[in-house]
Amino acid sequence: MNKALCDHIDNQRARFVKDLARLVAVDSTRTAPLPGMPFGEGGAIALGAAAEILSQHGYEPVNYENYALEADFGDAPDLLFLAHLDVVPAGDDWTYEPFSMTEEGDRVYGRGVTDDKGPALAALLAMDACRDVLGQPKTGVRLVLGSGEETGSEDMQHYFSRRPALRYTVSPDASFPLINLEKGRFAPTFKKKAVSEAFIRVKEICGGATQNIVPGKATALISHLNAKNVAALVGEAAARLGVEARLENRGEDLSILVKGTPAHASTPEAGVNAQTALIRILLALPLRSDPVRETLEGLARLFPHGDTKGEALGIDMADDESGALTLNFGVLSYDGETFACGADLRLPLAATEGNVKDPMAEKLASIDFAFEGDPELRPVHYVPPTSPLVKTCLAAYEEFTGQPGECLAIGGGTYVHDVPGGVAFGPEFPGRDYRIHGADEYADVPELLLSAKIYAEVIARLCY
Ligand SMILES: [Zn+2]
Repeated sequence: MNKALCDHIDNQRARFVKDLARLVAVDSTRTAPLPGMPFGEGGAIALGAAAEILSQHGYEPVNYENYALEADFGDAPDLLFLAHLDVVPAGDDWTYEPFSMTEEGDRVYGRGVTDDKGPALAALLAMDACRDVLGQPKTGVRLVLGSGEETGSEDMQHYFSRRPALRYTVSPDASFPLINLEKGRFAPTFKKKAVSEAFIRVKEICGGATQNIVPGKATALISHLNAKNVAALVGEAAARLGVEARLENRGEDLSILVKGTPAHASTPEAGVNAQTALIRILLALPLRSDPVRETLEGLARLFPHGDTKGEALGIDMADDESGALTLNFGVLSYDGETFACGADLRLPLAATEGNVKDPMAEKLASIDFAFEGDPELRPVHYVPPTSPLVKTCLAAYEEFTGQPGECLAIGGGTYVHDVPGGVAFGPEFPGRDYRIHGADEYADVPELLLSAKIYAEVIARLCY
């Protein structure tokens, strides 16, 4: 720990808060593209404001077509800090102003203070401190600030088509200690036609609409059934499945609404899937065998309620670094003619087309479903714990926090998912909720300064 570096960072507190307020004041939510502004006006204005701040700090920023801003310190850069200046929409229920930063003691409120404008400036503070205290580095440091992270990271697709990736990339856009593994993803959709002429038949099903969410709600319409005749049966099935079911007569039809618990597809075990429960409830009804019922039986076999690991598909797998494969059967609709389904799988290191995609295609074919198109498997992003970057970051984290520096594996993706050798490192400290993407997002200034000290230590160890 270099005390002079820490003092330099602490002395910059007032300037840091002023710079942050300036960035927060720009509503950099993505809007429709304008000429020369791929993410609309807000993103471009935010990059412009950041360019002025970087110039005031003595750098010579380069703007890559309003996708991203780049600023170097030292020659032959080897280490890249990657943060973003776009934000998600403010939404409702703020007690503070989302786009006019409020400072209350050590705490600041505003959209983007933690995600990710504050961390962007923390990385800048770290570079300033190293430059002013340690002088010229052996290998340079590069700061890249994008403006399209929240909407699919097209900013980085563009930037890295123009500029090389560096040996090391650190993104202060997730959590401490450090994320070195982001699971791969396979999100196929699959379809089948099935028509029933039966008197009592399932006419419509409306399950989840988004693959990456565990459906919290699912509905179906069945012809010629009366609620009071099946209420006991449905109630029993719902209780067994851990969901709530509501019945309603609609003329001669019966409508069923099933309520489960939504969750993100990267942690499906945290939810209760309403659509897999609905399938089981439908199969408990007095329906004759017909193509629709047979299809539901097939889906219940391959995607049984509660199976979030792909066991029934025969593709469950796990390893120590990445944990288990997870499966979310997230999309289901039936319009009287076609079943349209979708799943979202998060894949551990061992997953391949041969042991995930092919066996799944085979199982689906056994119930007459086929993938739509040729869905791709997105590979795992992984930086080994033995890499110099990971070791250096974790050592710095331990030194400054006294907490164990362990690698984390996640099912979601971060800003560095497609950046070779990149790790997500900070700014959120374990066990804290900064309400990012929610109302009253906040940051604690001393914590952001602590992050800056940790980043400065990483630069000092890797670049000098
Ligand atoms: Zn972010």
